[in-house]
Amino acid sequence: MEFIKKIALVLVLCLFTGCLGVSSAMAAEVSVSTSTSDGTSLTNDSSDTDTVVITIDAGHGGKDSGASGKLKGKRYYEKNLNLTIAKAIRDELLTYANVEVYMTRSTDKYISLAKRVAIAKDYDSDLLYSVHIDWSSSKKTNGAHALVSSGQYRKSLAKIAWAVGSLTLSELNQDLGIKNLGYLKRKSYRLKYPNKKKADYYAIVRMGTLANIPSLIMEHGYISNKSDLKKMDTEEELKAIGIADATAIAKYYGLVKK
Ligand SMILES: [Zn+2]
Repeated sequence: MEFIKKIALVLVLCLFTGCLGVSSAMAAEVSVSTSTSDGTSLTNDSSDTDTVVITIDAGHGGKDSGASGKLKGKRYYEKNLNLTIAKAIRDELLTYANVEVYMTRSTDKYISLAKRVAIAKDYDSDLLYSVHIDWSSSKKTNGAHALVSSGQYRKSLAKIAWAVGSLTLSELNQDLGIKNLGYLKRKSYRLKYPNKKKADYYAIVRMGTLANIPSLIMEHGYISNKSDLKKMDTEEELKAIGIADATAIAKYYGLVKK
């Protein structure tokens, strides 16, 4: 009945947080899709146990544009940059053997946070990798962060996300000169995990952990900072960011090019 508790917790978390606009109908979707598993195993059902399953999540979409920034009179919306990066990660990862890659969205559409996690769960993902670009009211703030679990619950999952995040931050720094700001492990004030420890603040990280999937949010610099935005204002640069992300993921899982 552990599983029932998890579902109840997800629903309660959503009630508290509103799941950043997720309706209760969407929250119910989580219970439907997670009902296929007891959530205790990361093992792929496939007989090919060497296959790594990665779900790439392009943050925001549709009515939710995410953050925006302006450069030389042109406005850039986070949702579009995220999608270009996410597609580049997918395309680059598919040049490696023994990997399956799924996207939570591949077009400009709105999709709830709970649904994104449910998609990753449906594919029995080994990693949920969420692509974002940060924003600050201080235009001087720049650099990339990995938002990861504090490891208070299911630490083995957190360790995977820490390692992937660390490798990604290094790649972004070396290949593209994006400042490495390290991890952010933010805890919720009120929400608790089933082990009574404080839950993670970031919804994708928290819900991913509850779904038993290593989950992280990569913030690829600040759209509000001109120096960072200059590194991502062309398709070519966004693709280079995606390749850096994919290279980090491939390094962590020891993937070899086809
Ligand atoms: Zn975002």
